[in-house]
Amino acid sequence: MEMPLLNETHDPNSMSWVETANEQGSPFPLQNLPYAVFRSSGTDETFRIGVGIGDKILDLTALGRSESARTSRLNIPDSLYASTLNNFMAEGEAIWSSTRSTLFELLRQGSSYDGKVPDCLIEQSKAEYALPATIMDYTDFYASIDHATNIGKLFRPDNPLMPNYEWVPIAYHGRSSSIVVSGEPIVRPRGQIRPSIDAPPHVSVSEKLDYEMEVGLFVGMGNQRNVPVSIDEAEQHLFGVCLLNDWSARDIQAWEYQPLGPFLGKNFATTISPWIVTMEALAPFRTPMKEAEGRTILPYLNSDREEANCGIDMYLDVSIHSVKMKGDGLPPKRLGLSNFKYSYWTPAQMVAHHTVNGCNLRAGDLFGSGTMSGPGADQTGALIEVTQGGKLPVQISNTESRSFLEDGDTVFLSAWCERDGYRTIGFGECNGTIISAAEPVDSKEGG
Ligand code: MN
Repeated sequence: MEMPLLNETHDPNSMSWVETANEQGSPFPLQNLPYAVFRSSGTDETFRIGVGIGDKILDLTALGRSESARTSRLNIPDSLYASTLNNFMAEGEAIWSSTRSTLFELLRQGSSYDGKVPDCLIEQSKAEYALPATIMDYTDFYASIDHATNIGKLFRPDNPLMPNYEWVPIAYHGRSSSIVVSGEPIVRPRGQIRPSIDAPPHVSVSEKLDYEMEVGLFVGMGNQRNVPVSIDEAEQHLFGVCLLNDWSARDIQAWEYQPLGPFLGKNFATTISPWIVTMEALAPFRTPMKEAEGRTILPYLNSDREEANCGIDMYLDVSIHSVKMKGDGLPPKRLGLSNFKYSYWTPAQMVAHHTVNGCNLRAGDLFGSGTMSGPGADQTGALIEVTQGGKLPVQISNTESRSFLEDGDTVFLSAWCERDGYRTIGFGECNGTIISAAEPVDSKEGG
């Protein structure tokens, strides 16, 4: 099976002429090179593709027009001079990898570009971001068996895990139109809710708003309809990874989810981080599949590699910052620290399963991993798990606790990969602040 091999671009001793990339703790060292779509904050400039390096963005459109690039015939594909990454994503592994080498050489210490392209670097603090790709389809998986078990216990104490869980990478088709980039405010939704079976449902503002800490996976190369992607080729179809918060209104969800699954409890908003860390950048951080031993896996989801290095060792952190905490100068409170390695299903298995029936994926399609909880009580990725369905409020400061999110709360997701012998890499910000519900469309609220 093809997998990105370790190469020169993973060498931990390589430094960049962008000095901030070399600082200990920088999420974007030379070995990362994530992509985003950005422009200068508060302007009406055209959004364009950039590469994260230290605290800067390398503006690829400006670079392409620069004298240095033209005279040295820099090998940057035309698909990167664009406002979305879709066309570059569609080009496939060979182009992604050669471009990474080019950017690595360009930004490394001793490169002839050092000092030659000052107009091509802008401060991340002076940039704003758009979605990195036009996302035509979004699928949300349910790949953490710990999350599935925790949630199952709340609803079915005797039988928490459905019998299909260990065979099928469960997912539902999500809504792409309401995917927003980090920082966009999240308006508290309203909808049909039935708090008690003793009374009919009514329409009101959700009082059980929750986050879900997930990994986002961007499809690169698509597949033709009716041509499934084999497990051994599946990773060649994945471009990279971001962070994803699948905001969830638990009260709307609880009343609507049977029999067809999530709908309005989920589709009002999903936040993603603006940066995509490529699969090749993640090569040093691969890890074996969870619980490979003793599992029976159907052949289309199984390969030698599936038991070897098909997982990703990626720490995932979720924290909350209330209005009062901000006012009191308190730092955000961590609510969970988990890891993508706990995923029961791997990225390759998600691709193989999604296409086994002939479904066609397209460049820029997004998968959510599902809430990525781990086995420990402090490794949960949603408030519904932290608070046992709201029954056990969690203390977030000396004076405040939460059952579910309140207006003004900011939820931060962050992530990093670290391993001895390699540079630690980060994923950038994935934040959203809850704002109060909009006025109802008419005066008929209530029930
Ligand atoms: Mn989800």
